[in-house]
Amino acid sequence: MCGIVGYVGTKDAYPLIIKGLQLLEYRGYDSAGIATYNGKLRVFKKKGKVKDLINLVKESSVPEGTIGIGHTRWATHGLPNDINAHPHLSGDGKLVLIHNGIIENYNVLKEALKKEGHEFISETDTEVLVHLIEETQKRTGLPIEEAVRVALTKVVGAYAIIVMDTDEPDKLVAARKGSPLVLGIGEDEFFIASDPTPIIEHTQKVVFLNDEEIAVVQRSGDFQIKDIDNRIQTPFIQELDMKIAELGKGDFDYYMQKEIYEQPKTIEDCMRGRVNAHEGWVMLSGIKEFSERISKAKRFIVAACGTSWHAGLIGEYLIEELARIPVEVEYASELRYRNPIINSDDVVIALSQSGETADTLAALGLAKEKGALIYGVVNAVGSSIARMTDAGSYIHAGPEIGVASTKAFTGQVTLLTIMAMCLGYERGTIPRSYYLQLIEELANIPSKVARVLENSKKIEYIAGEIKEATNALYLGRGYNFPVALEGALKLKEISYIHAEGYPAAEMKHGPIALIDENMPVIVIATNKSAYEKIVSNIQEVKARKGVVIAVVTEGDKIISDIADYTIEIPDTDEPLTPLLSVIPLQLLSYYIAVMRGCNVDQPRNLAKSVTVE
Ligand code: GLU
Repeated sequence: MCGIVGYVGTKDAYPLIIKGLQLLEYRGYDSAGIATYNGKLRVFKKKGKVKDLINLVKESSVPEGTIGIGHTRWATHGLPNDINAHPHLSGDGKLVLIHNGIIENYNVLKEALKKEGHEFISETDTEVLVHLIEETQKRTGLPIEEAVRVALTKVVGAYAIIVMDTDEPDKLVAARKGSPLVLGIGEDEFFIASDPTPIIEHTQKVVFLNDEEIAVVQRSGDFQIKDIDNRIQTPFIQELDMKIAELGKGDFDYYMQKEIYEQPKTIEDCMRGRVNAHEGWVMLSGIKEFSERISKAKRFIVAACGTSWHAGLIGEYLIEELARIPVEVEYASELRYRNPIINSDDVVIALSQSGETADTLAALGLAKEKGALIYGVVNAVGSSIARMTDAGSYIHAGPEIGVASTKAFTGQVTLLTIMAMCLGYERGTIPRSYYLQLIEELANIPSKVARVLENSKKIEYIAGEIKEATNALYLGRGYNFPVALEGALKLKEISYIHAEGYPAAEMKHGPIALIDENMPVIVIATNKSAYEKIVSNIQEVKARKGVVIAVVTEGDKIISDIADYTIEIPDTDEPLTPLLSVIPLQLLSYYIAVMRGCNVDQPRNLAKSVTVE
């Protein structure tokens, strides 16, 4: 949440920072701001999107200067308005700061600073930080990087910050704790950003800052990293392998649409080197290294939030069925605060697209303290979760920009499928013939996903039929129950229609009371086991005049005859069904949102990469 960009070097900072903010806009988009310095400080802040900021700047002259910082906000403290937008300034106007995160003790600090004569103009927690640094500088006379470090020792909470001191206009100071920050190292220039997307056009050489590290980057080309206790750190400089083309929308109208259509390829990428149908094996190098500990684990605990939590539930079904290891799936935010029982013979798997999800990170920290092996399944290379886990696997889905996750979900499910198959084979809990059958079938999934996508016209038509609904119910059994949850979440997120996902049989314990002729009920009915049961559930909905949209296996006659609309997907083995059955649900919410005029990629109140608790 929230995107921050900084630049110091020889080029014009303004266009570079604006472009960076546009690339990071998916992280927050309620207001934006920029500050540059060229003998004179210029600050522009505006409620709304980065384009509103650009229009504001157009009303005056474009700011010049080869140093600057910019921010796109997802408000936590204070309304999204011009005043609360970042950057924030010190009382004397010399220090400028942008921040991602939450300063939890901001009230205590604010009261103490007020007593020293500081006046505040915004409602944000962030403004307190810049005044605290100013006060520290005033009292100690320290250079800016030291003042930042000393000030941060008094701060409780999460932050990624960049500070510019107009008295030292050749340097930027950056620091992080709990929120991500990456330095890009160019030729006599430095970039700082929340993630590498604004950087890769300029350099692939990056350093991911660790928690409680403070970096100072200078126009001269020098940079240094210290920890909060003033110890110099040796930076780990990495070469990224990201392509700018991956960051565009291509020929698609929305990122979400592009990402839905990328899935045949991203699932294939996730399987590359891990699934070999020809030779009949699956393998995960992350597991190999700790194979003894993982395959003998007493229990797996999956910690995740949102869509990743749904992928985790599918993981539970897969791992319990194929590898016979007990699995618990926890909301990371609950796990971390409820004094859970976690033992050293447990494996805790964190699922997170961004690898920066604050609650998941904290839950992992707890699991680590308790001695469990921690395993990360993430998309963003070099992210915090990827760096803190004992072992892990990337899903290789490429940058996911649409706020509603799609290809990361299928990547996570693919990865968990491979994991369950590896463990099942190693533990002898799946017969070799079934193992080989699943491998062959898994290898066919990308082309089957492509076939589902070919059905988009029909799905678009159904979307048109139900787009005015105010409520919707998603039902599924077994592997398709988490898919029902995910379908409902997608609809809520981007079209603002209230939707709930339920295990189909649970419907009669409550939600059935809601069903009438205005209620679309989306039933994921591809199951081979419990097929008759789901047919009965559909009959129960029809008996109450509900409108049934059924996702069925190709050639299904029985359900097609009862349902109002059917969407066919290719047949596959049951454990692999979610990889196909979720696709029409993604498309359905996409089309409904477009027809309702919603901003599909930037739904209201949401943001990607949830770095606040
Ligand atoms: N807590 C800060 C604010 O509300 C920063 C929020 C963010 O990360 O965008 O302004």
